[in-house]
Amino acid sequence: MGVFSMVEKTGHEQVLYGHDPKSGLRTIIAIHSTELGPALGGTRFYPYESEEQALWDVLRLSHGMTLKAAAAGLDLGGGKAVIIGDPRRDKNERLWRAYGRMVDSLNGRYIAAEDVGTTALDLAMVRRETRWAAGVPIEDGGSGDPSPATARGLLAGLKAIADFLWGSEDLRGKRVAVQGVGKVGYHFTGLLKNEGVDVVVTDVYEPAIAQTVKDFGVKAVGLEEIMTVDCDVFAPCALGAILNEESIPELNCEAVAGSANNQLEKEQDAVLLAERGILYAPDFLVNAGGLINIFEELHGYSEARAMHHVDAIGRRTLDILTTAKERGINPQDAALQLANERIDAISDLRRLSRGGLAWTEVDET
Ligand code: NAD
Repeated sequence: MGVFSMVEKTGHEQVLYGHDPKSGLRTIIAIHSTELGPALGGTRFYPYESEEQALWDVLRLSHGMTLKAAAAGLDLGGGKAVIIGDPRRDKNERLWRAYGRMVDSLNGRYIAAEDVGTTALDLAMVRRETRWAAGVPIEDGGSGDPSPATARGLLAGLKAIADFLWGSEDLRGKRVAVQGVGKVGYHFTGLLKNEGVDVVVTDVYEPAIAQTVKDFGVKAVGLEEIMTVDCDVFAPCALGAILNEESIPELNCEAVAGSANNQLEKEQDAVLLAERGILYAPDFLVNAGGLINIFEELHGYSEARAMHHVDAIGRRTLDILTTAKERGINPQDAALQLANERIDAISDLRRLSRGGLAWTEVDET
């Protein structure tokens, strides 16, 4: 499929291909929407097997960012970037600075943040070439790693689910299965333990399991077992497309709520979950904590203000679950409706102000 056919299908505004032969940089920056504001999103550094796979990923992820920002009530659009390469091998100063130049050329239409394979330190390097990079280290005046905020927002979402399903936010004695104890999953496990939750974890990376078991005294299970283990909540905190025709019938939980982006392989999978009586908390709703935290950096970072807004994910989640119940639809559709309604309402307002400006200019000539 040609690039334009793919972009037309997904409704993107702009896709930029960047290349710097000297450093080996190959990047694709996708701006899905600037209707609500600049397109902020992470930069994923990943050894994609093909350019097509990289393009699909960046298109999918940037669309998700539009929904996430809209549902979180932020004045941000949706964008994402991918860099094709092995993050353990291919990073170098020149590459990050060349990437910074590419980002700068978009003049604020895209704001780069971190994602799988990138760190706050990498962003600091990008920042040397452009002001349009956020999530830089605290020592450099930024908000640092967004993962603890993502974990905190996820906990707020989980408490709302508990309230909705079991009539109380108290999570004591509940069992949560965490798939992937990387940056978010690790912090989330710690927060759950503090709430008195019985946590089971898994990861493909043995040292990550060992660290989590040692720090929090949780139980580790096998990679397959995490999907079928008897629990109250399954929390996917690794990679996307984990909920599909094969995995959904095997789940042994009452709810799914995790940080991974694009958990549903297909939109239809939300229906499969509902048919099995499993409550699905839309990923872009409950994993917005990191984005909210980074957004605060754009306005002069205050941790207290950021955490206040991150905690509001709980109220929003309860609203969505309640609305879904009232409308007789699944929570994924309710959250999509909310996000799209907000984009329609606010982008129209922005057009009004631009229209006003144009009218003044015309009037003056
Ligand atoms: P990470 O790379 O630090 O952690 C992911 C972990 O999952 C790693 O430890 C990895 O070994 C493990 N993993 C990979 N495949 C696995 C599998 N099949 N089974 C079990 N474990 C597996 O990434 P992260 O920053 O913690 O993000 C986790 C997910 O949350 C990603 O999908 C990311 O896009 C999403 N997310 C992250 C943030 C954030 O603030 N970091 C914000 C929003 C969404």
